[in-house]
Amino acid sequence: MNIHEYQGKSILKKYGVAVPEGYVAETPEKAVEMAQLLAKETGTKFWVVKAQIHAGGRGKGGGVKLAKSLDEVKTLAGNIIGMRLVTPQTKADGKLVSKVLIQQDVYYPGESEIQEFYISVLLNRKAGRNMIIYSPKGGMDIEKVADETPELIFKEEINPAVGLLPFQCAKIAYNYGLTGTAYKMMVKFVASLYQAYVESDASLFEINPVVKTSDNKILAVDAKVAIDNNALFRHLDIAEMRDLMEEDPIEVEASKFDLNYVKLDGNVGCMVNGAGLAMATMDIIKLSGGDPANFLDVGGSADAKRVEEAFRLILKDPNVEAILINIFGGIVRCDRVAAGVIEAAKSVNLTLPLIVRLQGTNAVEGKKLIDESGIKVRSAIALQDAANLVTEVLK
Ligand code: GDP
Ligand code: MN
Repeated sequence: MNIHEYQGKSILKKYGVAVPEGYVAETPEKAVEMAQLLAKETGTKFWVVKAQIHAGGRGKGGGVKLAKSLDEVKTLAGNIIGMRLVTPQTKADGKLVSKVLIQQDVYYPGESEIQEFYISVLLNRKAGRNMIIYSPKGGMDIEKVADETPELIFKEEINPAVGLLPFQCAKIAYNYGLTGTAYKMMVKFVASLYQAYVESDASLFEINPVVKTSDNKILAVDAKVAIDNNALFRHLDIAEMRDLMEEDPIEVEASKFDLNYVKLDGNVGCMVNGAGLAMATMDIIKLSGGDPANFLDVGGSADAKRVEEAFRLILKDPNVEAILINIFGGIVRCDRVAAGVIEAAKSVNLTLPLIVRLQGTNAVEGKKLIDESGIKVRSAIALQDAANLVTEVLK
């Protein structure tokens, strides 16, 4: 689960990681109010207005702006709230911004004395370990740094038996080129950041930039955070941070029915039981010249009700031009599934071409039911035949 920057920062703060002070606002008036409060609390003369969406690259897309007066706070917040922000990490139509973070300006007194670093803590699945990736050249062009000067990207792997060791934090601060107070502050920053990552069961904490201010403070100016869904049950405070507005509406609907649905860009809707079979089905659709519109695993107990719910979900996607149902009857019998499919197709008034492939227990009986049902459907027993039928109907 991804969370917003302001939420990530509230976690960081709890673990003693220094962050700039800020408040969220949903209207320009509230933004001004928050800016005044920040000025009173921190003495800041300028403010940064930051769009809160689950995507990075906001600065480049015009979603992060510096305001030098309360009037500017109001204008900028007014411009950003309600805009569809397009960044290198969003789709072409962008994401709707409904909140901004009003934050104290920490780039005082002049940009020349500010240093921006990159750091992220993440799970390296291949190594089976947590890893810290960092670079002394942080900021908005980190992708360019990785491309052109990969020697400026450093890695530190963490041994799970002992955790992040002090010498590793020291090495990171040293590679950033820091000395004196800033060096000490950075050692502490890295240790606290790692603790926040581990204790919140995160899979990512990306801080870009980490800023060294002219008075040697080390601050997390940005925070991109992802939490492992499987651990949310033991972090109820974090689970509450879920923002359904940021998620695909069909996926939100699917999660209510406990259906594993992932939206894709193609035109063939698929309904399959079992994740492995669902992957194989998407592959064969692709190989036959189609393009899957979704991944959908209806699970082991594909009864009539679940089949109908799955049908309704698939049909919510306007790109779907044909539907392929691929069920392997193990515990669930194919004739029962067939009955569910027929019932669902009738009750949702299905007009799109439908191809059903049933294999396993009672497959022949299932196919017979479908062939005699009177609904417009083609059935197959071999997967390749089903895929060929998809190609045919798409033509
Ligand atoms: P991202 O573009 O989505 O990664 O958003 P960031 O939070 O990283 O902000 C983008 C850029 O805005 C940063 O790289 C900074 O250059 C700039 N920025 C962020 N905070 C401040 C601030 O307090 N003052 C000033 N002047 N610039 C800031
Ligand atoms: Mn950033």
